Amino acid sequence: MRDDVPNSWEARAEEYSLYGFTDLPSVHKRGTVVLTHGEGPYIVDTHGKRYLDANSGLWNMVAGFDHAGLIAAGQEQFARFPGYHAFFGRMSDQTVMLSERLVEVSPFPRGKVFYTNSGSEANDTMVKMLWFLAQSEGKPERRKILTRVNAYHGVTVVSASMTGKPYNSVFGLPLPGFLHLSCPHYWRFGEQDETEEQFTQRMAKELEDTILAEGPDTIAGFFAEPVQGAGGVIPPSKGYFQAVQPILKKYGIPLISDEVICGFGRTGNTWGCETYDFVPDAIISSKALTAGYFPMGAIILGPELADRMQAASEAIEEFPHGFTASGHPVGCAVALKAIDIIMNEGLAERARALTPRFEAGLARLAENPNIGEWRGKGLMGALEAVKDKATKTPFDGKLSVSERIANTCTDHGLICRPLGQSIVLCPPFIITEGQMDEMFEKLEAALKQVFAEVA
Ligand SMILES: *Cc1c(COP(=O)(O)O)cnc(C)c1O
Repeated sequence: MRDDVPNSWEARAEEYSLYGFTDLPSVHKRGTVVLTHGEGPYIVDTHGKRYLDANSGLWNMVAGFDHAGLIAAGQEQFARFPGYHAFFGRMSDQTVMLSERLVEVSPFPRGKVFYTNSGSEANDTMVKMLWFLAQSEGKPERRKILTRVNAYHGVTVVSASMTGKPYNSVFGLPLPGFLHLSCPHYWRFGEQDETEEQFTQRMAKELEDTILAEGPDTIAGFFAEPVQGAGGVIPPSKGYFQAVQPILKKYGIPLISDEVICGFGRTGNTWGCETYDFVPDAIISSKALTAGYFPMGAIILGPELADRMQAASEAIEEFPHGFTASGHPVGCAVALKAIDIIMNEGLAERARALTPRFEAGLARLAENPNIGEWRGKGLMGALEAVKDKATKTPFDGKLSVSERIANTCTDHGLICRPLGQSIVLCPPFIITEGQMDEMFEKLEAALKQVFAEVA
């Protein structure tokens, strides 16, 4: 064997892989966790060390890492018909069945589905649909897209422009015409003496003022996650969607619900829009759509957008868009099984049943003097670290408090994610009560240790 080449998993990973969304100084110091397999909610690395993954991978592995039914669904479809596209009037039987099923489980009385390989591509595709409609319907100036600060809609050029995070400035993004409204996080952005209702009204007024200032006929759509996920698990302020939807309707602006995280049970219902009691014009789905067992995204159009897309496509005889693997038969077979497991085999109920224990655990840890608030919905939650609880003053960013908490957890066999000054938890729905207790115990120990170091 040559001795001038890296020879550990960690060294080989760093030598040949370019990392995304990874704090490199941390990796250089701590090494990469190289994984071989999973067992229920646990993942196992090349040293045989087990970690309870309190983030379900990236929100998506809701059925854990070794679900026999999902694996079999994929294997059987690989054996039957391992791949095909959905162009030129051909598509697999699995694709037909999944579209039918997605419309059936959607909040829409009827609709149509289009497939991508990811959530980013699904948001990108939705924007292209809105631009396509604008062109086709003689309103080509209707191109601007409204989203919110702290929104996460993905990483492709368009979806990154929709994402409301400062890191996209390193790419010179957002593109022009992507406008970010305020983040509806009352605890952080509410003004002194402002009630939550007043805060929500202020958010709604900002939306209407923006629409009027830009010109209603220049705006193609408004995209929102029911609960902002990668922005730090931020549920909307009370009555938010009830306040913004009538304004959007008044100006003919479609409301697109980005359900990439919320969809399929995370917030306690099939869709986040159900949890917050609104019916959008379209739904963007990915992540738990296949329980993370296959890359796939889907756009589910409600009746009005479905009809308009059909008419616009008929007018030029096609919708000139699609990915080679759109509606991949294996992905569709896996998604059909995932939906079945979540909706008919008790996984969604399990998520609902676990929620009180999850909330109680978060609330207990939030008693810590360095936790400013806990927030969440269903089985997604966050704890926000603060230097001073009364004034909500954050820790100095240089202390990297949340990274240190997450790294300490990793040392003790728990994976959780630092997001800004928060720690995010979104366990798989198959987690047991005992495993949930393990999650909170390990996190509590890490909080104590890190706050003692930085206080
Ligand atoms: C993860 C995510 C996306 C992007 O999905 P990818 O599959 O990573 O491209 C889009 N929207 C939301 C709400 C997400 O959480």
